[in-house]
Amino acid sequence: MPLSRSAIIHQTGSADVFSIESIAVGPPMAQQVLIRHTAIGVNFIDTYFRSGLYEVPLPAILGDEAVGVIEQLGEGVTEFEVGQRVAYSSSKGAYTQYRCIDTQDIVPLTDGVGDLAVAASLLRGMTVEYLFCRLYELKAGETILIHAAAGGVGSIACQWAKAIGATVIGTVSSAEKAAIAHANGCDHTIIYSQQDFVKEVARLTKGKKVDVVYDSVGKDTFMQSLDCLKTRGLMVSFGNASGKPDPFDVLTLSKKGSLYLTRPTLYHYTQSREELVNSAARYLAMLEQGNIKVSVGKTFRLDQVADAHRYLTNRERIGSPVLIP
Ligand code: NDP
Repeated sequence: MPLSRSAIIHQTGSADVFSIESIAVGPPMAQQVLIRHTAIGVNFIDTYFRSGLYEVPLPAILGDEAVGVIEQLGEGVTEFEVGQRVAYSSSKGAYTQYRCIDTQDIVPLTDGVGDLAVAASLLRGMTVEYLFCRLYELKAGETILIHAAAGGVGSIACQWAKAIGATVIGTVSSAEKAAIAHANGCDHTIIYSQQDFVKEVARLTKGKKVDVVYDSVGKDTFMQSLDCLKTRGLMVSFGNASGKPDPFDVLTLSKKGSLYLTRPTLYHYTQSREELVNSAARYLAMLEQGNIKVSVGKTFRLDQVADAHRYLTNRERIGSPVLIP
């Protein structure tokens, strides 16, 4: 059985808590496969577990997302074969060279999508899939506000919303990011580090405001986001890039226009095998057909995982990081 170099945390804290250790992996149990990773995704949720914002039993191998090749089948596996390229987006334990994984967590990859692009975007793309197609079915002609519109999720969201025919207003922190958001189909950008985005949304929509706000920034934007919504509009708070939103008085939703509020996670939108496979297939088809393009920001070796975390949370960054084991 292979020894697998892995990034392990024994305690939560800064990006420096990772230690690189070799662990024995396998053999795969029934309905599992042994995978050799070729590219590993790095996501904000990994930083939430690393910092202690979200709880994880320790010691832990973080990372929910990777691409790899199947090296060995466990008993009873008929859906996959040795040598097949596969990926996953919601199974903790990715920061390692080899791992065993339940077949119900993995999806097959076609030759039309590359390892780096998938590792940089499967989790983010499936997130946009459930946000736009299942949490609420976004429709042509609707107007939405997407925060961090030039980020990983934001870039995919702009392109997908455009493909649907929605009008997209995106917030970004710099002119360089505004240009990226525009190139991805964002109709209007607001540089929220310089402009009052509530006033700008009112101006751009001639006072009508938006149907849905997708807010992954959290603490810094949550309350003002509510002021961008039409009566009975939908607030989707789905991330904490600036910290988690402050405690909240439910009556505010009534005062601001009988608003709807949800705080979803991808995990709850991929509960069944059917949901997971369909979500991945829908996103990967968009990627393969060129309807969505993803930007890999930088690759890091597995032993540079601390740098990859610092890179991800650095606001200057363009494109998403990928670990190469
Ligand atoms: P991004 O590439 O979007 O990076 C985060 C962006 O947030 C930055 O680029 C920055 O854009 C903005 N931002 C605002 N304030 C801060 C801050 N204080 N520190 C750092 N960034 C800040 O990351 P991802 O695409 O990986 O993820 C985006 C968000 O989506 C995260 O919050 C993540 O947790 C969430 N998410 C939620 C999921 C779910 O199912 N609930 C699943 C996947 C991701 P700018 O400089 O333009 O402000």
